[in-house]
Amino acid sequence: MGKPTGFMEFKRLNKDEISVEERIKNFNDFHVSFDLKTQREQASRCMNCGVPFCQSAMKVNNRNVGCPLSNLIPEWNHLIYLGLYEEAYKRLEMTAPFPEFTGNVCPALCEACCSCSINDEAVGVRANELFLIEEAFKNGWIKPKRNIKRNGKKIAVIGSGPSGLSCAKKLNDNGFTVTVYEKSDRFGGLLMYGIPNMKLEKQIIERRINLLEEEGIVFIKNTRIGYDLKVSKLLDEYDDIVFACGTSAPRPLVCKGSDAKGVIYAVDFLKETTRNLLDEKKFIYNLKDKNVIIIGGGDTANDCCGTAAREGAKTVTELEITKEPPLENTVSWPNYPNKKKTDYGVFECNTIYGKDIRRYETTIDEVVKDKDNNIIGVNIKKVKFENGKFVDVPNTTEYLPCDCLIIAMGFLGTSDEDSKNYGLNTNRNRINLNGFNYNDNIFVCGDMKNGQSLVVVAIKDGIDCALKVIEKYR
Ligand SMILES: Cc1cc2nc3c(=O)[nH]c(=O)nc-3n(C[C@H](O)[C@H](O)[C@H](O)COP(=O)(O)OP(=O)(O)OC[C@H]3O[C@@H](n4cnc5c(N)ncnc54)[C@H](O)[C@@H]3O)c2cc1C
Ligand code: SF4
Ligand code: SF4
Repeated sequence: MGKPTGFMEFKRLNKDEISVEERIKNFNDFHVSFDLKTQREQASRCMNCGVPFCQSAMKVNNRNVGCPLSNLIPEWNHLIYLGLYEEAYKRLEMTAPFPEFTGNVCPALCEACCSCSINDEAVGVRANELFLIEEAFKNGWIKPKRNIKRNGKKIAVIGSGPSGLSCAKKLNDNGFTVTVYEKSDRFGGLLMYGIPNMKLEKQIIERRINLLEEEGIVFIKNTRIGYDLKVSKLLDEYDDIVFACGTSAPRPLVCKGSDAKGVIYAVDFLKETTRNLLDEKKFIYNLKDKNVIIIGGGDTANDCCGTAAREGAKTVTELEITKEPPLENTVSWPNYPNKKKTDYGVFECNTIYGKDIRRYETTIDEVVKDKDNNIIGVNIKKVKFENGKFVDVPNTTEYLPCDCLIIAMGFLGTSDEDSKNYGLNTNRNRINLNGFNYNDNIFVCGDMKNGQSLVVVAIKDGIDCALKVIEKYR
């Protein structure tokens, strides 16, 4: 199988990107797709390994290695090389319910452990996946499943993020009558109102929701369960409830002055930007000429950097509490690499502002505000990690002017208020669970169960949760 010499003949190519100067003028996807010949050559680099780590879904050192969905990667790579795209798509859909989401935003755990990456660069699996699903939509290979035989059981899924959607789809495919409740004005969870449009264009989510609706799933928005509609009412109406509400409690900034106007949580900032883009068909430029500081060094902070650059910020600085990662990878294959990476948003800021915007081992000491409670600056300080905790480095305080401080320090889990309104007991913001079960009729999945994770992990968790519900009625 495969082109036996593909990995020797062709170098890995990454998709071309529109220049930073051009792409920050809008929120559109800035990648340029391969032509068909290049796409097939890239697929031919797959060696069809005897033991394909790429699809292994293993845990090594308690971290995900390989595709959590166990996608049949070598099979579809080979079929792409042969030009048999529909057959390739048929293999992809066996395990992946929403390849258009993962094909855009997955950190490609499969590529990190690809055998090709031991001596060379990994096969571009994620690009192949995205190519296939877009071909499938373009060519009408995806048809809504109709005439599903119903089993008479009704399930309410609360939350329409990737875990809620994959759970709803699996249950619907298996004959359950499913209603998805969403508190927001649009469906998709963090796919819609977290991940920015340039990383995942929002019509891609709407296209999938329309398909799921055609397959019989009922979607109800602007309805916050536990507030607008009581859980007890749902339990009267449905056989089971699946909670897939994500993590509602962000890790707060605890320092003097943190209540100032102009201090904002990352997801609120990203959500408002996307909402404005979709409703008003324009972006707000509300950061024009402003000094922006972002606390946090993960994916969310990176998305805030890209968004701030597009909104015209005068300066952007990212504060990371951890040490600067090494430039060379320090862990061996098949572990996910440990080295400094510069994702798109930071790269854009570095390019525009002419320097690396990241400051490591640094945190906020105090938010400085004016008499009207508006933020005007921050005092920052250096820290170091000692004996299992961060400690201040004396005499390192520095003042930076700041008009907008964005907090991207991760999430704690389900807020106390939410768990009380749901009637679910928690321990340190995590619902008390036995596997997926809170009790016989209440299930929990996705980030709400596992804590902050990845889209592909949430999708897999939703499927596994649905299988537990299905098992109950066997
Ligand atoms: C800014 C940002 C960028 C990210 N980027 C990436 C990335 O590039 N790649 C990646 O793999 N992962 C990324 N992640 C992580 C990923 O988005 C999450 O792990 C994933 O979305 C979790 O899915 P979920 O379905 O469990 O929860 P969510 O996506 O959070 O969805 C939960 C849904 O439940 C709804 N809800 C909550 N409470 C109620 C209620 N009471 N009633 C009704 N509805 C309710 C919410 O409105 C929401 O729509 C990112 C996360 C953030 C914050
Ligand atoms: S879902 Fe992610 S890990 Fe799985 S094949 Fe696609 S890119 Fe790789
Ligand atoms: S590990 Fe890499 S080369 Fe091997 S089968 Fe998977 S994608 Fe192909």
